[in-house]
Amino acid sequence: MTVLVFLDPAFPEGRPADASVPQLMATDLGATRGDGIFESMLAVDGRARKMAAHLDRLASSARALDLEPPARSAWERAVATALTELEVQEGPGEAVVKLLLTRGVDGEDSPTAWVAASAVPAGTRERTAAGVSVLLLDRGYDSTLAERAPWLLLGAKTLSYAVNMAALRYAKANGADDVIFTSADGKVLEGPTSSVILAVEEDGVKMLLTPELESGILPGTTQRALFDAAEAAGWARGYGPLEPAHLMEADAVWLVSSIRLLAPVTSIDGTPIRSSPELTAELTGLLLGALTED
Ligand code: PLP
Repeated sequence: MTVLVFLDPAFPEGRPADASVPQLMATDLGATRGDGIFESMLAVDGRARKMAAHLDRLASSARALDLEPPARSAWERAVATALTELEVQEGPGEAVVKLLLTRGVDGEDSPTAWVAASAVPAGTRERTAAGVSVLLLDRGYDSTLAERAPWLLLGAKTLSYAVNMAALRYAKANGADDVIFTSADGKVLEGPTSSVILAVEEDGVKMLLTPELESGILPGTTQRALFDAAEAAGWARGYGPLEPAHLMEADAVWLVSSIRLLAPVTSIDGTPIRSSPELTAELTGLLLGALTED
């Protein structure tokens, strides 16, 4: 089941709503134009993980779209209301919590905001734990476009995910599990719903690398939490530009995101790459430790 809680000034703790009946106006610009933003975060036993990082990113996406987001405290209270209700309905466990904000009903100049919480579907992490095969797919723009063209909203988490979903369907139709997007100038970007991380060891120093944010990728909250935790444990960190050759030569490559955590990549365009269950276990441990403290 999905628990819905709308942010509504008349309801300080949020206004619960029935997800099994229509709740949005058909003229909401989020529905008609994909004109809005969202966040997707993990909650464990009623506590959202990395909430501050998700609210920071929501605020930055809102700025990119000239949207006025509700106060952080309003989101926090609505999330608490949703998670309490989900726990009453389904008991403790892991949940996906989505924060959604649209430009609102056409002509009304008032954003629509709500929280949707549901249990993490069984097997979500198990399906990727053994490794994912990926295709490199061209995203069609070069890695310097984000700064030149802010209207493209690169780096904002907008509701317009149709392209990301189409890329995943294309991969599945072609025998792969997931996707790593590349830029027109041949740089590694991100997955449709994940950040890309790779591990290398140089002169005895273990290092995590990820593409640079300036390339127009979404700033991943999981990547950030993992880099901070790994650095505290003695790893070095580095940022792109990265090219497919870096992936092929790495000690290990992962797709990382809030719900799936670390998914090891085992092949790229049909070519097996190196992976390391030991490194996956070590980094998953560091990430889980950081998430529990958060
Ligand atoms: N990049 C994209 C395009 C995403 O959609 C996501 C998450 O859905 C990520 C990266 C990973 O972000 P996070 O680690 O904050 O879940």
